[in-house]
Amino acid sequence: MYKKINLLFQIFPNIFCYFKRRVAFFLFFCYNINRKVDGLMKKIICLFIIFFLASCGKKEDVIENMIDLSTLNREEILSYATSKKLDLKIIEQYDIKIPKGEFISQSILPNEKLTGKKELTVIFSLGKDPSVYKEYKINELGRIPVMMYHGIENKKNEDTPYTGGNIDKDGYQRTAEAFRADLEFYYKEGYRMIRLTDYVDGIIDVPFGYSPLILTFDDGLSNNIKITGKDEEGNLIIDPNSAIGILESFKKKYPDFQVTATFFINGGLFGQREYNVEILNWLTSHGYDIGNHTYSHANLEKTSISATQNEVGRIYKILEEILPGKYVNIVALPFGTPGSFSNPNFKTILDGTYEGMTYHTKSTLRVGWESDYSPFSSTFNAQYIKRIRAYDNNGVYFDIEYSFKQLQNNRYISDGDKNTITVPKEQEEKVVNKNGLSIVTY
Ligand SMILES: [Zn+2]
Repeated sequence: MYKKINLLFQIFPNIFCYFKRRVAFFLFFCYNINRKVDGLMKKIICLFIIFFLASCGKKEDVIENMIDLSTLNREEILSYATSKKLDLKIIEQYDIKIPKGEFISQSILPNEKLTGKKELTVIFSLGKDPSVYKEYKINELGRIPVMMYHGIENKKNEDTPYTGGNIDKDGYQRTAEAFRADLEFYYKEGYRMIRLTDYVDGIIDVPFGYSPLILTFDDGLSNNIKITGKDEEGNLIIDPNSAIGILESFKKKYPDFQVTATFFINGGLFGQREYNVEILNWLTSHGYDIGNHTYSHANLEKTSISATQNEVGRIYKILEEILPGKYVNIVALPFGTPGSFSNPNFKTILDGTYEGMTYHTKSTLRVGWESDYSPFSSTFNAQYIKRIRAYDNNGVYFDIEYSFKQLQNNRYISDGDKNTITVPKEQEEKVVNKNGLSIVTY
């Protein structure tokens, strides 16, 4: 019985109040009828009662709630408003975060009661106010730093005889202290990391007003990701003072830093025979990339075609076996050679065959000495990319401080939308738009 009543209330949610009122009405009449009214009148009154009961639950004051309009288009919103007898007003306004044409807000919130509401205002985005591009100096033709690191040693800066945390004269090896300071510096200067392979492909995804930064590590040194053992569940234990240990701690400290890096390996992989394969898998499943630094760290300036194919192809073959389809087809050129893109060996570095496996290299990296161009710039050569040597030289000769000072005038500053290329109007003709993105000028 209880279940049946419950079901009745579900079907006619407002039946209860009507029912009560009608029953009271009915009883009142019955009282009078019994005393002085005849049979015909009783029948008429019975008809009235049937009418009242039948009208229960159908009455006009059923409570309705507002719906979420954010998934509807303008036409659908208009027909919804008309059906609810609401005066619809659509406003468009600039918004720094919400792309042009998208929904921003509704004056009557979802689930709010519509009773007594007459007006509904819906706001759509006009995209960013063009004046903000100027204010933030948005320029997606600006330059991008690709940092070249090698080893990170667990030392303090005061433990080395060289300046600013360099372990050798040229700063190829750096202390953990110096590397941490570098990362703090990049973060505070408004740089956010992107993958090297995305840079080459023209996919730049950093927030509005920020600049992209790329980290690379050559030589597959064991201090890039030093494994000290395994925990009870069989997971690799990574030395917190190796490059990956430090990068992982920054991932936690600054979740918006977009921490990533590309590691370029030789035949010895990461120099940790029992863990090498697991390391490669760990890196690719934790947002890092692996590239090719030739099998024996060869100087490809004067090697024969077959030697060049062996050096490049053998690493691709190893990577294909361990990480099928998960590595990047990018070669960091050992010693930065060939020193010229017109060197005949380049053809073989880019395309060749090794033990029946054909390879294609989409990009090569040079050694030093400055930031490179935007991938949307007509001057960008994706197959031959410049890097900044990540070292300290007291702010001179193309060290980190020097290079980032240069970048203050010409750095890439993102519009926050990877599907648009935003540039000052006078630079529009320099844009090369291979991916068919929308171009915004101001
Ligand atoms: Zn190297």
